[in-house]
Parts: sequence; C-alpha cells; structure tokens
Amino acid sequence: MMATRDRVEQVMNEPKNTQTLLDGWISREELWACTTCNACVEACPLNIDPLDIIQQIRQYLVMEESAAPASLNTMMNNVENNAAPWAYPQADRGLWTTEN
Ligand code: SF4
Repeated sequence: MMATRDRVEQVMNEPKNTQTLLDGWISREELWACTTCNACVEACPLNIDPLDIIQQIRQYLVMEESAAPASLNTMMNNVENNAAPWAYPQADRGLWTTEN
C-alpha cells in the first residue's frame, strides 16, 4: 500500500518518470507472496483494500503478459483440461474410493 502511495506521489511530482509500480516499486516476488488471506483488508481502519491492487496487478500479468508463475500455469492448464486443479481426468475422480 505504501509503495502504491509512493508511486502515485511520484506520478504527480514527476509526470515524465517512466518507472512502473510493478518491478519499480513492487517486486514480482512480493506480488505473488500474498496468500489473499484478506487480513489487511479486514484490519484497515480506513477501509482501504490493498488486496484489490494485488489482484489487479496479478490479473494484468496473467491476462496481458501471460506471466504467471509456472506452478499457477500448470494449475490453470489442469482446470482448463480437467475442470479441476489436478492433472487427472474427470472420469478418474472416483478411483480413490476403491483404493485399499
Ligand atoms: S491479503 Fe493482505 S494480509 Fe493477506 S497475505 Fe495478502 S497482503 Fe498480506
């Protein structure tokens, strides 16, 4: 949240500065470290929603740059192909019930 505020101030004070919020102020490691637990949203006394910023930048990376972490790409491929995050076809879902 502080990095976002600082970047907004930078845009106001230095409009020609081409530094971006992502990579310039917030690293990709920081961005993907968030577990989306929502604690920061719940605890904020000013009703600021830091998670919304995180999710919007993540959405930009995935939708516009196809730059999701490899583990997420695997999961999204599985959802697309198997309608579940696991790498097993729908027809095999009930097999665990017959294992000894
Ligand atoms: S939702 Fe907020 S408190 Fe939870 S991990 Fe992400 S940034 Fe941290």
